[in-house]
Amino acid sequence: MSFTKPDLDVIVVGAGFAGLYMLHRLRRQGLTAKILESADGVGGTWYWNRYPGARCDILSVDYSYSFDKELQTDWQWSERYAKQSEILEYLNHVADRFDLRRDIRFETRVAQAAWDDAASLWRIATEDGETLTCRHYVMATGCLSVPKDNEFDGIEAFGGEVYSTGRWPHHAVDFAGKRVGVIGTGSSGIQAIPEIAKQAKSVTVFQRTPNFSIPARHGPVADERIAAFRKDPEAYRQAARYSKLGVPGPVAMEQTKTVSDEERRRRYEHVWRTGELQPMFAQFADTLFDKAANDTMVAFMHEKIREIVDDPETAEALCPTDHPIASKRPCLDDGYYATFNLPHVSLVDLRRDPIRGIAATGVETAGGLHEFDVIVLATGFDAMTGAVVRVDIRGRDGLSLKEKWADGPQTYMGLMTAGFPNLFLITGPGSPSVLSNMAVSIEQHVEMIDDLLADMKARGREVVEPSAIAEEVWTRYNDDAGNLTLHVTANSWYMGANVPGKPRRFLPFIGGVDSYRRACDDLKAADWMGLHFRGKGETRPDDRIVRPFRPDVTAMLEAMAEAGLPPLHTLPPADLRATMAAVGEQSPKGPEVGEVRDGTFPGADGAPLRWRLYRPDTPGPHPLTLYFHGGGWVIGSEVSDDAFCRDLCVRSNSLIVSCDYRHAPEARFPAAVEDALAALDWVAKEAQALGGAPGKLAVAGWSAGGNLAAVAAQHARDHGGPALSGQLLITPVTDSDFSRPSYVENAAGPVLTRELMDYFWDHYVDPADRQDPRVAPIRATSLAGLPPAMVVVSQFDPLRDEGIAYAEAMKAAGVPVTLLVGRGHMHTSYSAVDVILSGAEMRAQMAQALDGFFEPRRHAAE
Ligand SMILES: Cc1cc2nc3c(=O)[nH]c(=O)nc-3n(C[C@H](O)[C@H](O)[C@H](O)COP(=O)(O)OP(=O)(O)OC[C@H]3O[C@@H](n4cnc5c(N)ncnc54)[C@H](O)[C@@H]3O)c2cc1C
Repeated sequence: MSFTKPDLDVIVVGAGFAGLYMLHRLRRQGLTAKILESADGVGGTWYWNRYPGARCDILSVDYSYSFDKELQTDWQWSERYAKQSEILEYLNHVADRFDLRRDIRFETRVAQAAWDDAASLWRIATEDGETLTCRHYVMATGCLSVPKDNEFDGIEAFGGEVYSTGRWPHHAVDFAGKRVGVIGTGSSGIQAIPEIAKQAKSVTVFQRTPNFSIPARHGPVADERIAAFRKDPEAYRQAARYSKLGVPGPVAMEQTKTVSDEERRRRYEHVWRTGELQPMFAQFADTLFDKAANDTMVAFMHEKIREIVDDPETAEALCPTDHPIASKRPCLDDGYYATFNLPHVSLVDLRRDPIRGIAATGVETAGGLHEFDVIVLATGFDAMTGAVVRVDIRGRDGLSLKEKWADGPQTYMGLMTAGFPNLFLITGPGSPSVLSNMAVSIEQHVEMIDDLLADMKARGREVVEPSAIAEEVWTRYNDDAGNLTLHVTANSWYMGANVPGKPRRFLPFIGGVDSYRRACDDLKAADWMGLHFRGKGETRPDDRIVRPFRPDVTAMLEAMAEAGLPPLHTLPPADLRATMAAVGEQSPKGPEVGEVRDGTFPGADGAPLRWRLYRPDTPGPHPLTLYFHGGGWVIGSEVSDDAFCRDLCVRSNSLIVSCDYRHAPEARFPAAVEDALAALDWVAKEAQALGGAPGKLAVAGWSAGGNLAAVAAQHARDHGGPALSGQLLITPVTDSDFSRPSYVENAAGPVLTRELMDYFWDHYVDPADRQDPRVAPIRATSLAGLPPAMVVVSQFDPLRDEGIAYAEAMKAAGVPVTLLVGRGHMHTSYSAVDVILSGAEMRAQMAQALDGFFEPRRHAAE
């Protein structure tokens, strides 16, 4: 390995928002750098997209650089949403102000880039045949910089003018007196159509997929916004950096169904009037996750479209029905829907009347020929990966990036990709990029790359590359985040679905700018976790993982950290109970069930204990599951897992009876066990009166409740019943051995820590009694003859391995057992209904297991 001196320390491709700032930062730290740009000017997006009506759709106050104090206070935006010309002027001003042009080579297209591992440098070849070498190679090539290839046969034969919104000419296009056909109704089409209609003799809009759009309400920047910014620009920017979308604003906590119809409408009207995209996501927490919730906003939008558009048939065609709102990029417009009321504007719905091709005089659809003087293609971009893979990039051992990404891009944080040392992507796939205010996301990436290179320089590190495992886990994390949302149900460019042959994968990171930034902060604070380095005299491998949990588990942990709860094991039981009850109060309530009933049963000492019954909204009798709540034998009650019991009731279509038991330290072992057995006895006797179907009784429990359920199943086997159909043990305590690897690996949590388990054990049971099978059911003399079981464990739970051990021991004893291991989950994942959404698929399997216990023949047949 050698470190041959290259022509330049860094080559940056692209002179848009990203490239300009990157160059500025690199030069500031004394690196030699050049930008190669195919255009003859700076601006990127704002250089190319000069179509009428082109503007940003994030308020200009927010969609601008924050890195320079004077720049951000000197520059005044004339409108809420600046026009393309003003943004281009701004970027030219930035290029001049920071003297960037001397290091930009315009009209230079990069065609190839190859990593030379022996010399530890990149060889960058331009389309003109020149080759430059550099140590580091930054692709600032833009997420939306490659217009989609033409997909219409015969376009070359068209005798009129053809324009593409993404490659608009520099001269003004005159539409006056002309018949214009516009193909495409994404963001660009929606911005351009009303403007073109102001001049043209006629406009025909060809629409394949209608999109949601709200009025932009153009005008001067609102005084309050300016005031908020000017009051403390740094605080304002910092709020943007740690916001969901890169725009300061409130975060929705409520679910759509929790407010009245009037209140919901009031909020949607507010969004419509505000003319901003961010508030659309800030009304309800579940808009992007829950179809029923999303449908309410869709219905509101349909109403608005029908109100505006006079012709009912056109209105219906303009109402999007094939994708949830915001699962494709929502748009802002200036009179878009009303444009269809103009007598010279018409709509062709391509779903009914598809394009056959382009003829010499116009567009040929199934219904006939539409003659035009001008055709405008607003057909979108090969988004996010298009510009990157268009360059033939070869990494170590000639590995082609295009081939590596054949099934979809794999990156570490959207910034780097394994096998391609010293290659950086700005706002690459796997980062918030197009789901954010890109000015914020670009600055973050530029600063991160700059910090990394500065750190490498200081430490004599020459080569950096993500580890394969770090990349694999982040890519899966990105997929997991996307899969939680309704986005993956839409055929959008976020999914690569607009480009024929492009692999279907959710490209940007949807967990939020804030969450992503925290992951980057953590990575950096841990000395660039997940990155391998090579340098003079040093090789540092690093296979650490920055985000091992599911994205919604991470989000919950972040919210808990923000709430600043003290370590739970430091709280006296009374305070711990009060704290957890308060947390429970704020949690989502779970689904509606047919009936909820409360009552008491006699506990083992004769004193009454409470139960709560959940009945499905279907005709009974139903199979019945006796449920024991979690809480380390110390906290909780028959209602503390309310949302989880509701969920299980609805999903399994069975009765759930949650019974309380006495808690430690007031009532130590074996009080809880004795109460659990009393509950089983009582439920078995009362089953029919409660609405239970004869002979269909199971036990279930979570955590300490899982421990009680397992013990109750053993007791029933050994003491003549009741006969149980099955046992559902969810992250159960099964043993008092703390030496299994999961106890060591997860000693610090999340949430359930070794210290907290010690606290629970110490409160509940004397060390001398901890081998007793009534507290350590794995230690029973025999596990044979137990009812069928499902054991659910979580990857990141101290109790994982004892759960697995119990499942395996039961299996070995001949018990039918299903073991479910929740990847990326923690101890409390499954009970957090509507908070940890990825727990739903696990709960669905639990419900299925219950059904299997009760209907074994049907399941065997399936
Ligand atoms: C019409 C439109 C409106 C938008 N509005 C918003 C908005 O309101 N808010 C928002 O956050 N984002 C918006 N975006 C996204 C926008 O792309 C980004 O905000 C931002 O401008 C991207 O900057 P960039 O420097 O990363 O990439 P770009 O601005 O796309 O610049 C990339 C540059 O790289 C050059 N290049 C690419 N490949 C090569 C090559 N092989 N060789 C040489 N040069 C190359 C291109 O010519 C281009 O100049 C919009 C995008 C479009 C198309």
